[in-house]
Amino acid sequence: MTIFSPTAFRAQFPALSDAGVYLDSAATALKPQAVIDATSQFYSLSAGTVHRSQFKSARDLTEKYEQARGRVAKWLQAGEDRQIVWTRGTTEAINLVANSWLAPRLQPGDEIVVSEAEHHANLVPWLMVAQAAGAKVVKWPIGADRLPDIRLLPDLLNARTKLLAIGQMSNVTGGCPDLAQAITLAHHVGAKVMVDGAQGVVHAPPNVQALDIDFYAFSAHKLYGPMGIGALYGKAELLDEMDAWQGGGKMLTHVDFDGFTPQAVPWRFEAGTPNVAGVVGLSAALEWLSHHHAEKAEMWSQQLASLAEEQLSEIPGFRSFRCGNASLLAFDIAEIHHSDIVTLLAEQDIALRAGQHCAQPLMAALGVSGTLRVSFAPYNNLQDVDALVRAMHHAVDLLSE
Ligand code: PMP
Repeated sequence: MTIFSPTAFRAQFPALSDAGVYLDSAATALKPQAVIDATSQFYSLSAGTVHRSQFKSARDLTEKYEQARGRVAKWLQAGEDRQIVWTRGTTEAINLVANSWLAPRLQPGDEIVVSEAEHHANLVPWLMVAQAAGAKVVKWPIGADRLPDIRLLPDLLNARTKLLAIGQMSNVTGGCPDLAQAITLAHHVGAKVMVDGAQGVVHAPPNVQALDIDFYAFSAHKLYGPMGIGALYGKAELLDEMDAWQGGGKMLTHVDFDGFTPQAVPWRFEAGTPNVAGVVGLSAALEWLSHHHAEKAEMWSQQLASLAEEQLSEIPGFRSFRCGNASLLAFDIAEIHHSDIVTLLAEQDIALRAGQHCAQPLMAALGVSGTLRVSFAPYNNLQDVDALVRAMHHAVDLLSE
């Protein structure tokens, strides 16, 4: 493992050779050369697809594809490789659980508890299946610290609760709820827990067994990997009892006009030609990450966010929604609309996000129509913070006139 050096880390991201300042890593992380090379090599050198052909290149690919599954399993400390299901990303993984695990088990009057801090991806799939079944989605409110209020949870859970949906880290506040405690409380009433790892995974991959997580979802693109690939981790006994959700090639062992026999887990959930390039790229991202000092890298991005928060707080009307020492910082400026600011910042080549961040219930709880959000990764540097702060002063001066 190499000692973390911000300069050496940054040098591996060709997209940063452009003049702009990239502060939108919570939306999607940039890709290091190692991931670009692995993906490009796949398209340049590989022939065939996986699990279908006997020729050498296709067999080699199948081996790589299944090894990647093992790499993800190991990385999340799952017990078995087959507990990892390839999906398009977090959104698809959550929809898979909603449709294949929850929907067939949901009775009218059942309840699904969802934290108020969730991204729409960890709310809408539950609303959809609840609506169809006559079940209820129960809001778990945030407290003054902007985290789902753990003191309220025991009163929200009961024998009718089938599932608790919670994010590992908010994409707005960066807040990380106490997963272990929430999971223990949910299990106490017999509910299962879906953890949305989209934001958290790059900061701290969980030990899914130690935390006793039932389902965990993440997307490769927030982890320096390609878009369009991600995974669902599930407890083996839960995955085994789930029906297939999409029909097609390679998800079955036999089919005739009377019906079909589904494949074993995980292939049962992977109908059709998969995103092999994505899997190869994700595997390369994990391999690449294993050579970096994750904690030091994380500390660096947190320090940059703290510095940005400190310097931006000198702007009159600045208000931060950041939880703890998160590497992302959502904020607003009193009397100035976030979309006006982001337009002026875009003109100065500062890439950040403004709006509701696919978290409308959280925006309502915070009492705002939207916020600005800068999110730092270890490839950012002090010059990025300077450029942001200068551009913000300039924008606010113009808009206050
Ligand atoms: N949950 C959170 C907390 C997210 O930040 C995101 C991505 N913005 C998602 C879920 C959805 O991820 P994806 O779009 O990659 O499926």
